[in-house]
Amino acid sequence: MKIISSEYSVSAVREDQYPRDILPEIALAGRSNVGKSSLINSFLNRKNLARTSSQPGKTQTLNFYKVNNSFYLVDVPGYGYARVSKAQREQFGEMIQDYLETRGNLEGLIIIIDARHEPTVDDIAMYNYALLLDLPILVVATKMDKIKKSQYNKVFSNLRKHLDLDHDNVSVLTYSSESKLHLAELNKWIEDKICL
Ligand code: GDP
Repeated sequence: MKIISSEYSVSAVREDQYPRDILPEIALAGRSNVGKSSLINSFLNRKNLARTSSQPGKTQTLNFYKVNNSFYLVDVPGYGYARVSKAQREQFGEMIQDYLETRGNLEGLIIIIDARHEPTVDDIAMYNYALLLDLPILVVATKMDKIKKSQYNKVFSNLRKHLDLDHDNVSVLTYSSESKLHLAELNKWIEDKICL
């Protein structure tokens, strides 16, 4: 799929703020600072559409980006940020769950994990929760440009150690927003899910 246009559409914290034009949606989740904004920007070939920041936990809304006027990428706020209060964390949790569990036009969920480390407790919780949603899931291990070739196998074994990846609806991809490693595969997965 060729990316022809992309635009920020709306930010939402509840259902009545979600876009009204019902198009297929692909959600992206990951803990703060994992590289989610960078992945969105690299996928869309935009420098700064999704905000990249060194201040994790800033984005607290669901951000909808309309692509090719035909589908939405939905940036789910980063979780696992220690500096927000427990009450705030619970609020985020509810917002994320409301969206993921009720949005009928949600066609897939991308869970982003830092390839350099073993999945964190938050990554594992998010993944296990996602398995309950009955959605196509793509686990993306990003920042691969920071990994030596000789360590590539370790990335997969780290994932497998903590995540039960053996499900028909689950795919795994290594990725880099810097080198654009596997950008074409990411694009293909999304294209397949939105069925244009
Ligand atoms: P977010 O909080 O998940 O949206 O994370 P960001 O996209 O803002 O990225 C957090 C930091 O990681 C930034 O300093 C990015 O430049 C860096 N980063 C993100 N993706 C990559 C990548 O694929 N390779 C490298 N080397 N750095 C990355």
